[in-house]
Amino acid sequence: MERTYLMVKPDGVQRGQVGQIISRFEQRGYKIVGLKMMQIPREVAEKHYGEHAGKPFFQGLVDFITSGPVVAMVIEGKEAVATAREMMGATNPLKAAPGTIRATFGIDVGRNIIHGSDSVESAQREIAIFFRPEELVDYGRAVDSWIYE
Ligand code: UDP
Repeated sequence: MERTYLMVKPDGVQRGQVGQIISRFEQRGYKIVGLKMMQIPREVAEKHYGEHAGKPFFQGLVDFITSGPVVAMVIEGKEAVATAREMMGATNPLKAAPGTIRATFGIDVGRNIIHGSDSVESAQREIAIFFRPEELVDYGRAVDSWIYE
C-alpha cells in the first residue's frame, strides 16, 4: 500500500475547511495513518519547497505556508499519491476540474488550500520532513475488505 503526504494549508485552516477536506479522503476509503496540526518553521518550509527555491513565487510561498497553522497528514491506500493529486485538482484552482478540492474551495494559485505529494519519491521525502516514524500508526480496519476486492 502506498502513502502520500497531504497538508491543509493555512488558508484552509483559517477558512474552517479542515474537516471537509479530511472527509473527502476518508469517504474515498483512504486510511489516515498520521495527522497533526503544526506551525511550520521557516527552515522546514524552505526544505519542503526546495525545488522552487529561486522562483519568483518562492518567498511568498514560504511566507504564506508559515503564516498560520497547517494540518499535516499521511494517508495510505492503493495509488494514494496519484489519486490524491487527482482529488486535489490543478495547482491553479481556476483551472482545476469541477468537484476537485481546489476547485471547490479556492480561487487563487497562492491560496490553493491543500498540498499533496506529486510522486512516490516526493511523498517519502515529505513524510520524513513532517513526521517522525513513531508518529505514523500501523493499524488494520475491519472495513478494508469492503473497500478493496
Ligand atoms: N505557487 C504559487 N505561484 C505559482 C506557482 C505555484 O504561489 O505561480 C504555489 C502554489 O501554492 C503551489 C505551490 O506553490 O501549490 C507549489 O507549486 P507546485 O508547482 O509544486 O504545485 P502543486 O504541486 O502544489 O500543485
